[in-house]
Amino acid sequence: MKIIQTSTVLLALLGFAGLGYAQDCELSIDGNDALQFSASELTVSKDCGEVKLTLTHVGALPKSAMGHNWVLTATSAAQAVVSDGIGAGLDNDYIKPGDDRVLAHTAIIGGGESTTITFSVADLEVGGDYTFLCSFPGHFAIMNGKFIVT
Ligand code: ZN
Repeated sequence: MKIIQTSTVLLALLGFAGLGYAQDCELSIDGNDALQFSASELTVSKDCGEVKLTLTHVGALPKSAMGHNWVLTATSAAQAVVSDGIGAGLDNDYIKPGDDRVLAHTAIIGGGESTTITFSVADLEVGGDYTFLCSFPGHFAIMNGKFIVT
């Protein structure tokens, strides 16, 4: 019964916001035990203002061995963000504390876990060169993709 009520509320909210609009401003991506993201590109409209992103680790390995996060940065800064993140360690989600090159990031999660963040795209440039990546040591080379702002 509770699930039905929640669904009804959600549908009502989606109706107010406009179904297409709501979907366009919510992103989801999976990571697995084979060092893969489920998407090589994510596209979002700057008009969203705020974007909700859910990262799900569909594997089974613990975060100490096969942790994944989702980090957004300018493509030109990606390598440096990753290099500095290694030294920051798992306790800091492999992100250097206070790194202002990081535009948004989730926590590191392990198999079977999921995490959701909301971040602003209001200051991003339409057509800018952005990369999303996993900053777990050794993952960036394979776990990266293009973040497109329209
Ligand atoms: Zn990873």
